[in-house]
Amino acid sequence: MGNRDKPIIFIVSGPSGSGKSTLVQKILELPDTMLSISCTTRQPRAAESPGKSYNFVTPGQFQQMIKEGAFLEYAQVFGKNWYGTPWENWFEAQRKGVDLILEIDVQGAQDVQQGQLKQNVVSIFVLPPSPEELERRIRARGMDSEDEIERRLRQAKTEIKALPEYYDYHVVNDDVARAGREIQGIVLKERARSADERRDERVGVGAIAAAKKRRSNIELSVQRILELF
Ligand code: ADP
Ligand code: 5GP
Repeated sequence: MGNRDKPIIFIVSGPSGSGKSTLVQKILELPDTMLSISCTTRQPRAAESPGKSYNFVTPGQFQQMIKEGAFLEYAQVFGKNWYGTPWENWFEAQRKGVDLILEIDVQGAQDVQQGQLKQNVVSIFVLPPSPEELERRIRARGMDSEDEIERRLRQAKTEIKALPEYYDYHVVNDDVARAGREIQGIVLKERARSADERRDERVGVGAIAAAKKRRSNIELSVQRILELF
């Protein structure tokens, strides 16, 4: 059993190849954290086993889950495959008393932040240090076809444009050790705040003020990277 009586949902988004999975692993090194395993209609990659990174389902099964209201959020990513977060993951986090870590795209992030659980959410956007480094990492990973790489790079631009409005924090993944410490620091800082304080920033007038503050608070170093895309 964990110690979190009011669990937080930490959303980690960012372009493919920016290092989300790498930094999510850093968060999971902290006690009282749990990874949200999504369902997807994507084919498993060679190194992926079912139930570890994803639960792989057919398009028919996915549609059935939508009908049953099984998803906290879902989206079609890269205009191709479907991905969704089952409500059950949140129920499990609550039962266990741990924070839930969602590695999801910008559409899903928006839905969760505007939905029933908005008071429980903290969102983090991971940025690569430059477009060139992003492309290098995607290629070095060696997991995607040329078509898929092109699609992911195009999507990166779209996602980065959506960034300022919706995310509470922006982490530049230049060096893994440094960015890992920064992201762990965000989790610890948010845990130290009260749930009431977070709620006030998520609803009503407080939410509008907080969104304005987020936009004006984006650090210069992050703004410079945004301009590169
Ligand atoms: P994402 O989950 O966002 O698609 P990954 O975490 O899979 O990204 O990282 C993409 C690739 O870049 C992986 O091969 C990973 O090992 C590498 N990588 C991640 N962070 C860094 C970093 N700070 N410097 C260099 N390479 C990195
Ligand atoms: P990949 O195919 O590389 O594993 O993931 C592609 C994209 O889908 C990533 O941006 C990832 O964050 C996103 N993704 C993974 N799971 C979910 C999910 O449950 N919901 C949403 N909306 N996006 C997801």
